[in-house]
Amino acid sequence: MKPLIVANWKCNPPSLPEAKELFELVKKGVKDVKKVEVVICPPFIYLPGLEKDSNLGLGAQDCFWKESGPFTGAISVKMLKNLGCQFVIVGHSERRRHFRETDLAINKKIKAVLENGLRPILCVGEKEERGGKGGFSTVIKTQIEKGLKRIPSSQINDIVLAYEPVWAIGTGKACKPAQAKVINLFIRKMITKLYNRSIAEELPVLYGGSVNRENALGYLKESGMKGLLVGGASLKSEEFIGIVRDADNL
Ligand code: PEP
Repeated sequence: MKPLIVANWKCNPPSLPEAKELFELVKKGVKDVKKVEVVICPPFIYLPGLEKDSNLGLGAQDCFWKESGPFTGAISVKMLKNLGCQFVIVGHSERRRHFRETDLAINKKIKAVLENGLRPILCVGEKEERGGKGGFSTVIKTQIEKGLKRIPSSQINDIVLAYEPVWAIGTGKACKPAQAKVINLFIRKMITKLYNRSIAEELPVLYGGSVNRENALGYLKESGMKGLLVGGASLKSEEFIGIVRDADNL
């Protein structure tokens, strides 16, 4: 799999014309990129207005696990699929925090995404820089074990993991590539135990948390990450295109 660079626009920009403008700028900037897969995850309501192409894919920032019915405000995976989404971010720390999402709900969402043939990007990460009590390993272990509960090895190839230390998200305090490497290895050991070694080697793990053009390559070169999840910097077209093009030139 090519390295995957995912833009998480979060609750931005404020209007569809601005979303279209940003999307078209990125599309133009990455049109000759060959070695990197690029995906934009805009707010749901902009999805129908953005035209993906072979070099710029579409994803969603969340989903609901039921297909249809009396679930006010919910967006199902089938709806996202019908709008051309290929990926769904699941379990982002902002959803865990502001919307009280549990590991159980996240597990149901991942299963629904897989059943519909889309690829979930499961976000995991510790809250405090020093990992708090028990260190990063306890938090990440629980999030992975519960998030992937009863997901068979036949479906695991479609999963993407994103290591996003909460303390690094939107703070400008990115994790050091050497530390990201330790966690990448920890995640692979866990996946080996839960599944097997070849699955662990193939599983794409992305890094996210204050990625910018200056630090982005460090995660791909030094941490063994298979891509990036980019928040704030993905709203600046030049910076985001720069990150993608630098990765393409690696
Ligand atoms: C994110 O929200 O997934 C993220 C990584 O945000 P930022 O790049 O702004 O830290």
